[in-house]
Amino acid sequence: MSATVIDGKAVAAEVRERVRLDVEKLEPELGRPPGLATVLVGDDPASAIYVRNKRKASEEAGIRSIHHEPDGGISQEDLIELVEQLNDSEEVDGILVQLPLPDQIDPDAVIESLDPGKDVDGLTPTSAGLLARGQPGLVPCTPQGVMELLRSAGVDPAGKEAVIVGRSTLVGRPLASLLLGADATVTTCHSKTPDLGEVCRRADILVAAAGRPALVTADMVREGATVIDVGTNRTDDGLVGDVDFEAVKEVAGAITPVPGGVGPMTIAMLLANTLRAAEARARSGTQRV
Ligand code: NAP
Repeated sequence: MSATVIDGKAVAAEVRERVRLDVEKLEPELGRPPGLATVLVGDDPASAIYVRNKRKASEEAGIRSIHHEPDGGISQEDLIELVEQLNDSEEVDGILVQLPLPDQIDPDAVIESLDPGKDVDGLTPTSAGLLARGQPGLVPCTPQGVMELLRSAGVDPAGKEAVIVGRSTLVGRPLASLLLGADATVTTCHSKTPDLGEVCRRADILVAAAGRPALVTADMVREGATVIDVGTNRTDDGLVGDVDFEAVKEVAGAITPVPGGVGPMTIAMLLANTLRAAEARARSGTQRV
């Protein structure tokens, strides 16, 4: 039997609508709309599109978009100074510095300068540490989107075998913490994992986040497993994931497509994080989440 295809666009639209309604409720308490600052450095065309989409989605959810586009030649020192101004701004609840940054700038130094209470990408060491310890904090958007997709498909990770292919700080590692926090038994694979197929076949929940087209083939998937494809690869055949979708959907119980699966969730969770950061500020009068 062919797998249920999980509709990321529909789930993302639900999350965005939920955020919009909560923003409406929060605004009187804040005395202003929640604010999301975006910082775009350089002229990477893909980054420009991502930021444009994030700003548009913010405005649609009632979140004020505060945009900065410094010159591509900006020094690391000046960029950190801009981040510090945004950290101090009363109107800004979330800050997003679009990556990659130009070569003269160390991205880690910029990320570390972010106020963790405004770190809506969940990338600061503080956010990562809180997540690894299972404590509340802002969580990276893509792994959070994966968890939301599992919820929407009625898949409870508790007691299940979850296998993640990929160990990046952006996706694989935070997702491992989230799945562990949801009581799954978690295995994280990477390029040095000797027999990837054997490990993947154990999975009730299999997440591919390697950035390798068709890495996950049908023989690597247990019958009835839930397969989430985070991969986003531009090929001559267009945008494809890490999973051989057509073949795997005949084995899996549920599967996300690319495009239209995890992709739309990332922006939706960014809005949810901005709302959360704004709520925390309204609640406590401080910037802690
Ligand atoms: P990344 O930093 O390049 O990490 C890739 C990970 O996959 C690494 O841990 C690497 O192992 C592992 N890997 C690579 N080839 C492998 C193989 N043949 N077998 C097993 N593991 C392998 O990538 P990322 O930032 O996590 O992104 C992963 C993919 O998700 C990319 O396609 C990216 O475009 C996509 N993505 C999509 C969204 C979205 O919104 N949909 C958001 C973020 C990322 P090593 O650590 O050993 O090198």
